[in-house]
Amino acid sequence: MLIVMRMGATDEQVRGVLARLKEFDLEGHLSPGKERVVIGAVGVIGDPDIRTQMSRMSGVDEVIAISRPYKLTGREFQKEDTVIDVGGVRIGDGSMVVMAGPCSIENEEHMVTTARAVAASGAQILRGGAFKPRTSPYAFRGLGEEGLQHLAAAREATGLPVITEVMDARDVELVARYADILQIGTRNMQNFMLLDEVGLARKPVMLKRGLSSTIDEWLLAAEYIMAKGNRDVILCERGIRTFETATRNTLDLSAVPVVKRLSHLPIVSDPAHGTGHWYLVEPMARASMAVGADGLMVEVHPNPDHALSDGPQSLTLENFDSLMRSLERVGEAVGHPLAPPPQLAAAAVAD
Ligand code: PEP
Ligand code: MN
Repeated sequence: MLIVMRMGATDEQVRGVLARLKEFDLEGHLSPGKERVVIGAVGVIGDPDIRTQMSRMSGVDEVIAISRPYKLTGREFQKEDTVIDVGGVRIGDGSMVVMAGPCSIENEEHMVTTARAVAASGAQILRGGAFKPRTSPYAFRGLGEEGLQHLAAAREATGLPVITEVMDARDVELVARYADILQIGTRNMQNFMLLDEVGLARKPVMLKRGLSSTIDEWLLAAEYIMAKGNRDVILCERGIRTFETATRNTLDLSAVPVVKRLSHLPIVSDPAHGTGHWYLVEPMARASMAVGADGLMVEVHPNPDHALSDGPQSLTLENFDSLMRSLERVGEAVGHPLAPPPQLAAAAVAD
């Protein structure tokens, strides 16, 4: 249920509505739109009379039933795009942000070298995994907290904000101490305890699409995070399981405009996990930009043949640089430019 306040409704009237909702065991989430305040009421609507009662309250213009299963993630609740500021990098503002770095953090030198290179090529956010979800329990599963320390050193060396995966609700506090964005991996998209926990964290969350999840299931997973009070959710299309075997997954680029229509949340495309092959990363990254993705996630490694995970889909430092140059041209052609690096963004604000 959405409660649309009249234009110029007072704070007291808004507080009155929130208090009344509490009496019905409903939680009110404010969406301070440009023109009018909209309140999303979340919870079980037991009494069908609630709508009539709310519509009679002072300051209320109209009460609308939300037809879709997700509420806070939907465009009905918030018309304007959500823009998330991560250390000066704005995600969702109409430009395209590039998150780049190795699949796994291997040691400090590896992390810092890769970070310096991707920063020099124009990436805005650094990625690297310390807790790795691996299909085989015998594969490299990440360095844990030691890896997070190397990631922090790389942030220090470059000034780039960092994104890293958290796999377990018990690790959210630890990972949030190091990360600027918490990543929820595809295998955990429906780990509801973990979603609740990152919903309580004060860090933006990037939620990857489940391997075989529909867009509705994905938006409902995002709803878990938002319902706990965390509004800074970024979605990431990373490919889904289909019958096709030529690629590791099928990167569903139609999900980008579909999500943009249904939701106000920013959406990032991950052509590395989406295809599994380094030579497909550049063409699918260009296509992602053309369909309006708010960001890209790319795996980069100084020596992909020796990478401890996901080498076959990782770009060399040189190939990443050439990808960025090619994205500059695509951005110009489609009117969806690359975001400036954080140092330039900060300088522009200072001017
Ligand atoms: C990753 O980003 O390295 C990763 C494991 O991604 P996904 O959860 O999409 O497989
Ligand atoms: Mn990976």
